[in-house]
Amino acid sequence: MNMKPIPLFKIFGIQINLDFSWFVIFFLVTFTLAEGFFPHFYPGYSFIVYWIVGAVSSILLFVSVLLHELSHSITALHFNIPVKNINLFIFGGVAMIEEEAPNPRVEFLVAVAGPLCSFTIGLFFLVLVYLYPVDDLLNGIINYLMYVNFALGLFNLVPAFPLDGGRILRAIIWSKKDILTATKISSFTGTVFAYFLIFAGIWSLIKGNFLNGIWYGLIGLFLKQASKISYEQTKLTVILSKYRVENFMQTLKPLLPDETVLDFMNFYFPFYRSSIYPVIGKDGQVYVLYIEDIKKIPQEKWAVTYVMDIAKPLVAFVSPYDSLYKAIKIMNRYNLNEIPVIYGNTILGIIRKSAVELLLEKFMEEEKK
Ligand SMILES: [Zn+2]
Repeated sequence: MNMKPIPLFKIFGIQINLDFSWFVIFFLVTFTLAEGFFPHFYPGYSFIVYWIVGAVSSILLFVSVLLHELSHSITALHFNIPVKNINLFIFGGVAMIEEEAPNPRVEFLVAVAGPLCSFTIGLFFLVLVYLYPVDDLLNGIINYLMYVNFALGLFNLVPAFPLDGGRILRAIIWSKKDILTATKISSFTGTVFAYFLIFAGIWSLIKGNFLNGIWYGLIGLFLKQASKISYEQTKLTVILSKYRVENFMQTLKPLLPDETVLDFMNFYFPFYRSSIYPVIGKDGQVYVLYIEDIKKIPQEKWAVTYVMDIAKPLVAFVSPYDSLYKAIKIMNRYNLNEIPVIYGNTILGIIRKSAVELLLEKFMEEEKK
């Protein structure tokens, strides 16, 4: 079953989503706080009060995780790396930072921003603990938030890719060697740490600590998978960065403004079958015809509708000398399967996602041999 995450709100243009698995951790954290931590350290309150305080603390933990992810995202945005959304799920949060950092320095800064934020929040609550040394539940919440934020910062600093510490390690190696070697090494430490967690989980289970056992095991399995996927992702980036658009594009003749939709459907579409098509406007600018828009027009009107009537201004294009990586990045950003290739003022052709995928498939097959 694949349930869509719940959209919460937007901040700095970043969509914050809540995955359904988050409710599991919300319940678990509230449960451990309401039945363990608070009654143990702050006895004398009623059952309902413990559960309310537990739930409030859980939500504040969620805010802490969100702030951690936001600081990664804001740093990324500062360096013009687009961030689509932040998903909060069972193991915390993931900021969907769309692209690799352009250089080791940026990678380092984006990675370090999260733990720095968590430590700052931890310090803030540490000060509050000193300012409010009363032995009550409010003090309990402050203590708990101090503890979890320090823990969040420390856990993320473990040099296990793709945890923040692993990214920091990768940035350091990357500054001395190439990114692929750096990713390989930091993914390896990531996998090692993942196995360590899995074994710690099994050990806890043997020792009879059921909840810890399952928890360590699950985080370990998740990290193992994540480090593998992140490595594959980087490899892809490196391969695509080596090739230029000019060798994979399809050349084409742009549409002229006085051509009709019918002309396009008869003389262009059967040969190119792309979801977009470039048009040169009367003003000499490049416009784009979307097949989606043609579908909205009744067929009998095709002969009297000019392509310029429905063409839209150009939003995305690449130069023939751009890398395939850049082309894919732009196509993903604008959710397009094809984009025009333009050099200066001349439309040369289109580059298709499928052409890039074909190249990658070849690579994967070569690797198997
Ligand atoms: Zn982080």
